[in-house]
Amino acid sequence: MRYVSALIALVAATAVQGARAIELKFAPPDFETEYAMPYLFTPAPAGSNTWWESLILFAALSLTTYMVFKARSRRGLFAISVFSLLFFGFYRKGCICPVGSTQNVMAAVFLPDVGVSWVVVSFFVMPLLFSLFFGRVFCASVCPLGAIQELVAIAPIRINPALERVLGLGKYMYLGLATLGVATGAGFLICRWDPFVGLYRMGHSYNMLIAGALMLLVGVFIARPYCRFLCPYGVLLGWMSRFSKFHLEIPPSPCVECRLCEDSCPYNAIDMPTPRHLVEDPAVGKKRTRLLVFLAPVFILLGAVGGYLFHEPLSHIHPTVSLSERIAKEDRGIIKGEVYLESDTFRKESKTAATLHAEALAVTEKFKTGSALFGAFLALIISIKLIELSVVKKRTIFEPHKETCFSCGRCYPYCPVEEGA
Ligand code: SF4
Ligand code: SF4
Repeated sequence: MRYVSALIALVAATAVQGARAIELKFAPPDFETEYAMPYLFTPAPAGSNTWWESLILFAALSLTTYMVFKARSRRGLFAISVFSLLFFGFYRKGCICPVGSTQNVMAAVFLPDVGVSWVVVSFFVMPLLFSLFFGRVFCASVCPLGAIQELVAIAPIRINPALERVLGLGKYMYLGLATLGVATGAGFLICRWDPFVGLYRMGHSYNMLIAGALMLLVGVFIARPYCRFLCPYGVLLGWMSRFSKFHLEIPPSPCVECRLCEDSCPYNAIDMPTPRHLVEDPAVGKKRTRLLVFLAPVFILLGAVGGYLFHEPLSHIHPTVSLSERIAKEDRGIIKGEVYLESDTFRKESKTAATLHAEALAVTEKFKTGSALFGAFLALIISIKLIELSVVKKRTIFEPHKETCFSCGRCYPYCPVEEGA
């Protein structure tokens, strides 16, 4: 009942935000004035960040860690999720969140004249450090994107683990694309394509508002789709969590192998005891692994070549390239009649189409190296995943997978060893 009331409140708040956002969209800019509209590829930031917000983030992470390890309270985690949604989501308008801060840090690394404030760095680093020590406590209930999905996941079903693995590659692809976007000056793709920021900020493109609503609808049944299949920051958190010194355990004391928690995780994040028929002669496994390790460089090279060949379509993530193509199509009469804000704005500026096309060509050149590296990165990830799959570990208990477990505590009440369960 508590969950249902919270969900109703959430849906109501979301609907109000959505309606106000749509209202804003119906206020068209006046092109008859001197004012030139800026490119609206990335939502404007909600405001400057201050140290006290870093302190709140630290406090929320610490409290979540306490709830995960000491109190082992799903109820407590739920309450922190509601706070994070209201504070980091609706009050702070989802900006800057640690997920988006990844790009600010990347920009400071790749672009010589771009800096990053210490507050933003603290937002980026803090959840990673907590992850390194305690697992993904940030995802458990502090992240505003995770919180909104966690709260709507009321009828989750488990999907096939093989499908989970394939779809899970999406987040590596997104991380690679986001890096490519920052390094080539295409912008902050994670913010541009953030499906929930439009709800938090009362404004974004229609497409992103619809994407956010769909993501929440899907998330009722397939819990946390953005976290599992798309979140680029989740990749970094997962890598840290893999080496976490401490990590949530399903039973607080030794597992009695009752199998009651077997189906409790909607995220496929519980590693089961190895079935007897899969236990094999270690020599066979080693041979398979050696072969995959040997083939990995070839695979990575193929990935780089594939990425290079795709540099032109990939360059369309850059606003200059996509605008240049749009203008070329309009000039050739291929597109007629539709109103397109960016091309209308361009035509009110003094820049010529030839200059724009030359700039787009220069940007496309930059994408050659970046796309090759992007392809190599994806091939490297797939190789690592295949090598991991080739190693059959002998496991005798049920335990959370350190990389993919969100420390959400949904499995706590299923374990009979759990105190008070
Ligand atoms: S996976 Fe990403 S979006 Fe989901 S909770 Fe973690 S950081 Fe947030
Ligand atoms: S805490 Fe339990 S239910 Fe939640 S993601 Fe981890 S293993 Fe799954």
